[in-house]
Amino acid sequence: MLRHDERTAHVGIPDDVVIRRSARRRRSLQARREGGVIVVTVPASLTTAECERLVPGLVSRLRKREAGGRRRGDLDLERVAARLADELAPDLALRARLSSVSWSSRQNRRWGSCTTTTGEIRLSTRLKAMPDWVVDYVLFHELLHLAEANHTPRFHELMRRYPKHDLAKGFLHGVAHTLASDDASGSRPVELDDDRDDSLF
Ligand SMILES: [Zn+2]
Repeated sequence: MLRHDERTAHVGIPDDVVIRRSARRRRSLQARREGGVIVVTVPASLTTAECERLVPGLVSRLRKREAGGRRRGDLDLERVAARLADELAPDLALRARLSSVSWSSRQNRRWGSCTTTTGEIRLSTRLKAMPDWVVDYVLFHELLHLAEANHTPRFHELMRRYPKHDLAKGFLHGVAHTLASDDASGSRPVELDDDRDDSLF
């Protein structure tokens, strides 16, 4: 594998942070803890300036997460959406199409929805009890609908950019399964969103 570690030599990047360039990573950045250091994997093509712009925020979010699990409020969602758009899909201009992200307590059969005509995303408040990486998965799904309205093969391919894709998908399948078996009325299980032009999941 074409990989090498780069220590320091970056303005504003702390020295317990290792930048790892990966030829396999095309667009997204990822930070994770490896013992005493934080390893940030970046696309091999990322410039030093881009590193210096993107890495500090990623690292401070990881440190905050490590410091203790906070639950997100409404305001946090828009910030998370902007971060997901920047880190996973800078090529899709998602931020320009997004107008708002909010929690909704009225979505009982969907985890999220996206109105592509207005750029409004809503997430079910039931996601609040789930880990952040599951909420982010749904949020990224809804964000992608701003670029690809339906669940096309391209949509699913773009979705694969989400680092914990399979894990989060499995998590939601498990929750939906439990909800369906708890539901004596036998109604249909919760789905991510509907495959209609104006909404998802
Ligand atoms: Zn969808």
